[in-house]
Amino acid sequence: MTANRRIPYVDLAAQYREERAELLAVVERVLAGGSYIGGTEIEALEQEFAKLCETREAVALNSGTDALFLGLRALGIGPGDEVITPPNSFVASTGAIVQVGATPVFVDVQADQNVDPAKVAAAVTKRTRAIMPVHLTGRICDMDPILEIARRHGLAVIEDAAQAIGSRYHGKPSGSFGEIGCFSCHPLKNLNACGDAGFVVTNDAKLAQTIRSLRNHGLAGRDSVDQFGLVSRMDTLQAAILRYRVSRLPSIVERRRKHVALYRKLLHPAAFNPPELPDEFIAYHTFVIQTDRRDELKAHLAANGIETAIHYPVPIHLQPAAARLGYGRGAFPVCERQAGRILTLPIHPWLSESDVAAVAQTTNQFLADNRCPLAQGA
Ligand SMILES: *Cc1c(COP(=O)(O)O)cnc(C)c1O
Repeated sequence: MTANRRIPYVDLAAQYREERAELLAVVERVLAGGSYIGGTEIEALEQEFAKLCETREAVALNSGTDALFLGLRALGIGPGDEVITPPNSFVASTGAIVQVGATPVFVDVQADQNVDPAKVAAAVTKRTRAIMPVHLTGRICDMDPILEIARRHGLAVIEDAAQAIGSRYHGKPSGSFGEIGCFSCHPLKNLNACGDAGFVVTNDAKLAQTIRSLRNHGLAGRDSVDQFGLVSRMDTLQAAILRYRVSRLPSIVERRRKHVALYRKLLHPAAFNPPELPDEFIAYHTFVIQTDRRDELKAHLAANGIETAIHYPVPIHLQPAAARLGYGRGAFPVCERQAGRILTLPIHPWLSESDVAAVAQTTNQFLADNRCPLAQGA
């Protein structure tokens, strides 16, 4: 059925084929201009990002990880402070908390893989300074109760929106809910550079100014340093590429959403993915199903030429690096159970409808043959 067909999980070479002429013109413009760090491309991109995220400010940085790290630093979070965050993210969110010297405090997630607001409320202590929700897969966390907890306890909210560019919740874009929103433009993200890049958004002009200074050695002017910083500038070349791709983002998101809609129509109900709620608009960085016999299903798909991924197979609290934080197996049962059941199906924009149908059919065949129960999530 899928004989001779190979369905890759990502296909950046296909993106290049589609964009080649316009992308090369962008690269030519920057190289010919002779300005490779900073400059008008960066300023223009920052305005375009801010507009996209409906915030006052955006600061272009060299990665999503540095966006999280510099965001926390600008908020003044450091040793002795606790930051509440889920354990099922990419390691970068916890890594940034550890890099500023603060302590990550994990809380469990819900069926939709996002942090459980009730668990967040229960984890607040006298040392808590911030909540870092992660909008996993592109689905925005349940922000109303999270913002309410933050207000009640005087906590900052720093969103890890690395997977959620273009997503909305109650009509508002990702990254615009908390004090700081952090984004990644890693090549595998929906709004992608041809290398590392990321940015923060905020409505607080002072926070933006601090991060602009920290990304450039902490320089306040040409020869004056307020506080020591680092180098975390976005390359001008990447900024120009991203300006071009910001204009294409709606089409990228639409194509991913079309693939998801087809999966939702075709997939056997034993492949669970929480439905998109009426007040949600999900940009779908990933489409993750939860099912029994995940490893066998992954192997069955691979045998049929279909590449899949797992985001993420080992929760952060069970990583060797987290041993000193003192969490053991069983600490976060929902997250741990999901880690053994989640499978990310391909939804990249260069798949055809018949590719998606083939993935659904091959998945369904496995689930039916193995009489997988109609799983509810979590
Ligand atoms: C990709 C990602 C990051 C890190 O972004 P980089 O640009 O690769 O540094 C952080 N958090 C999450 C949830 C991510 O998916």
